[in-house]
Amino acid sequence: MQFRTTLLMSQFVTHDVKRFVLERPDGFSFTPGQGIELVIDEPRWRDEKARPFTPTGHTDDRVLEFTIKRYAEHGGVTDRLHCLEPGAPLRITEAFGAIHYKGPGTFLAAGAGITPFLAIFRQQARQGGLSGSRLFFSNKTPADVICEKELRHYFGEAAQFTCTRVSGPGYGEGRIDQPYLEQRLTDRSGYFYVCGPDLFVEEINAALRNMGIKAESLVFEQ
Ligand SMILES: Cc1cc2nc3c(=O)[nH]c(=O)nc-3n(C[C@H](O)[C@H](O)[C@H](O)COP(=O)(O)OP(=O)(O)OC[C@H]3O[C@@H](n4cnc5c(N)ncnc54)[C@H](O)[C@@H]3O)c2cc1C
Repeated sequence: MQFRTTLLMSQFVTHDVKRFVLERPDGFSFTPGQGIELVIDEPRWRDEKARPFTPTGHTDDRVLEFTIKRYAEHGGVTDRLHCLEPGAPLRITEAFGAIHYKGPGTFLAAGAGITPFLAIFRQQARQGGLSGSRLFFSNKTPADVICEKELRHYFGEAAQFTCTRVSGPGYGEGRIDQPYLEQRLTDRSGYFYVCGPDLFVEEINAALRNMGIKAESLVFEQ
């Protein structure tokens, strides 16, 4: 099923990520963490393959929010999305996907892979908080961290931000890999939520399995 919608506004979140607010189509619903597929309903773009994105707002908001990173060098859908004006016509599918909140645990994200977790964190923050959970968030540089203030507000000391290219005070340095996780995951109970580029998800899942985490504790998009 497809829903027609319209862009209401967009604003910068980081230098290459924007928050998009869309009209909420009648009958559209989602579970925090799920994705949709989106098409720009303009002559040049409507036959382009739909691209997946994740609603990042609350499930009962009267509008839909997306948080989308632009890949200008691809000249694709995200590049065009970042140039759209309010009123632009869009189409989205029903929500799908395996990521949803199952209980407290460890959230491991890289880059725009934070988006399904943003929806989950916002819902959990409203429903009593995120105690018992922690966040490891990897980015290239501090300037790339999406919604950093909000995430620090939710997690306090339980959030660790690491940068792989350029780091700075308040950020770890290097990649999140098995030695990094072995050092920091003293408590290995709860769920392990993983989202990011395919290679990140593969490597983190492999590291967690090597560390004895059971497959049923891993939550990620298959
Ligand atoms: C379930 C799911 C949910 C997602 N949710 C979000 C979200 O909420 N927010 C978000 O920001 N992202 C999200 N993503 C990622 C998002 O779908 C992609 O970033 C998006 O599809 C990229 O679309 P694009 O058309 O701009 O680029 P692409 O489709 O990657 O590329 C367009 C064209 O550019 C060329 N190209 C591809 N790679 C390169 C390259 N490295 N260099 C040069 N040219 C290249 C190819 O010819 C390609 O056809 C999600 C992904 C999934 C699977």
